[in-house]
Amino acid sequence: MPKYDFDLFTIGGGSGGVRASRVSAGYGARVGLAESGRLGGTCVNLGCIPKKLLSYAAHFRDEFEAARSFGWTLGDPEFDWQRLIENKDREIARLNAVYEKLLLGAGVTILRGRARIVDPHTVEVDGRTLTSAHILVATGSRAAYPDIPGAEFAIGSDAAFSLPDLPASSLVVGGGYIAIEFASVFNGLGVKSALAYRHDSLLRGFDGETARHLGTELGRKGVQLLAGREPARLSRNADGSILTRFRDGSEISTGLVLFATGRQPNSGGLGLQAAGVPLEADGSIRVDRYSCSSVTSIHAIGDVTNRRNLTPVATAEGMALAKTLFRGEPSATDYDCIPTAVFGNPNLATVGLSEEEARERYPDVHIYRTAFRSLKHTLTAIQERIFMKLVVDGTTQRVLGAHMVGPDAGEVIQGIAIAVKLGATKAQFDATIGIHPTAAEEFVTLRERAA
Ligand code: FAD
Ligand code: NDP
Repeated sequence: MPKYDFDLFTIGGGSGGVRASRVSAGYGARVGLAESGRLGGTCVNLGCIPKKLLSYAAHFRDEFEAARSFGWTLGDPEFDWQRLIENKDREIARLNAVYEKLLLGAGVTILRGRARIVDPHTVEVDGRTLTSAHILVATGSRAAYPDIPGAEFAIGSDAAFSLPDLPASSLVVGGGYIAIEFASVFNGLGVKSALAYRHDSLLRGFDGETARHLGTELGRKGVQLLAGREPARLSRNADGSILTRFRDGSEISTGLVLFATGRQPNSGGLGLQAAGVPLEADGSIRVDRYSCSSVTSIHAIGDVTNRRNLTPVATAEGMALAKTLFRGEPSATDYDCIPTAVFGNPNLATVGLSEEEARERYPDVHIYRTAFRSLKHTLTAIQERIFMKLVVDGTTQRVLGAHMVGPDAGEVIQGIAIAVKLGATKAQFDATIGIHPTAAEEFVTLRERAA
C-alpha cells in the first residue's frame, strides 16, 4: 500500500500546474490536481489567449485603412463587440476541454474545488482530505488595485474581457504590459482611449529608447498619453461617466476606467503559514532554484512565486520540477535571456539586456539602431515607423540585447532570442543572410554604430 494517496498533488490548474502535473504523470507519478475555476488558468481564460484574440480584432482597423491604398474598395466597416466576445468565449471553452482531456489522458485525477494545505503531506479540497508525498502550489496571481477613494468605480483586466458593451471613451491606468495592451485594444476598436502612467515613460525596466518609441507610435495611432499621472480619486459623474482626479490636480472623465497596476500572488487562505512555508514581503512563496520551499514536500511555481510572471516561464518551472521530483534529474529553470513581447499596437518585443542594464554591467557598449517605415506602408498614409536596436558588448562583440517595436515584433524576436541566448556576436549577425524583403532582415544588416 502506498503511504500517500498521491505522489504529487497540485493546487491550481493553470499554465504551471497543468504542465507540472502532466509531465509528472508521464514520468509515472500518481498525480492529483485541484482547480477552483476553469482549467488553463489565467493565460487561457483571462490572459494571453483572449488578450491576443482581442488584439487581432483591434489590428483590423489599420488593415482596413491600408487596404484602400492597395486597390481595395471597402464599405464602412462595422464592428460587433458581442460577436467577438461570443467567438472568443467559444474558443476558450474549447481550450478548457482540451486541457481536461490532456490531464485525464495523462492519468491525472482532477478535483474541482478550492484546495488548502492542512499539513506538509495533506490537502483538503472542499471538505475532502487527501494525502500526497509532494504538494505543488501553482495558484497564480490576481490584479492589485491602487488603494484610493472610488477605486470601486474602476474595473480590472478580468472584467474587461467580458464587458457587455464597449464604452465611448476609456482611461487605462498603468504603464506596463496590460495597460499598453488594453489601451491598444480599446483604441483599435474605436474607443477614445487615454493611458495614464506615473513616470515619464512607459514600461519601466525595459530599454528606455525602445519604450519611448512605442509611446510615440501609440500616440500616433490616437492613444492620449498622460505621462506622470497617478490617480488620487475616482468618482461617478451625473451622466454615469467616471471622473478620475490625478495627484497633480488634473482630471479626465471617461466611460470606463481600467486599472492595470500590477498583480499580487494568490498565496492567502492556502494554509501556507500553518504548514511552515515562509512568504516574501510581497506575499509570494519563497522557493529555491528547484522551486522547493523550506518545507521539503511543498513546492511552488509560476506567478505565486513572482519570479518572471509569464506563461512560458511557469511551464518551464513546471517541467523542471517534474524532472527534479520524478526523473531523478535536479533541474533549475534558466532565467537568462527570457524573450518577451508586449502585444500593443504596435508590438514591442525584447530579449536580453536593455542599453541601461548593459552600460551598468559592461565598460564598453556599442549600440546599433534603425527606425524606418515598412515597405507595406509606403503605399499608404500610415506613418508608423518600425524600430530595431542591438546592444553589443564592445569588448567581446557579443550581442547582449535585441529590441523591436513594430508589426509582429514578438514573432521576430522569438527567432533572434535563440541567437542571443547562444551568445552570438555582432559579426555572426552580420554574416547571416537576410530574407528580403522583410523588416526582420534589418537585424542582420545594421552596419553603422549609433553609439
Ligand atoms: P495561473 O495560470 O493563474 O493558474 C492558477 C490557477 O490556480 C487558476 O486557474 C486558479 O483558479 C487556480 N487556483 C487558485 N487558488 C486555488 C485554490 N486554492 N484551489 C484550487 N485552485 C486554485 N503571459 C505571457 O507569457 N504572455 C501573455 O501574452 C500574457 N498575457 C497576459 C494578459 C493578462 C491580462 C494577464 C492577467 C496575464 C498575462 N500573462 C501573459 C501572464 C500569464 O497569464 C501568467 O504568467 C500565467 O498564467 C501564470 O501561470 P500560473 O500557473 O502561475 O497561474
Ligand atoms: P506590470 O508590472 O507590467 O505594470 C504595472 C504598471 O502599473 C506599472 O507601470 C506600474 O508603475 C503601475 N502601477 C503600479 N501601481 C500603481 C499605482 N498605485 N498607481 C499608478 N500606477 C501604478 O503589471 P501588469 O498588471 O501590466 O501585468 C502583470 C504581469 O503579467 C506583467 O508584469 C507580466 O509579467 C504579465 N503579463 C504579461 C503579458 C505578456 O507577456 N504580453 C501581458 C500581460 C501581463 P511602476 O513601473 O511605477 O511600478
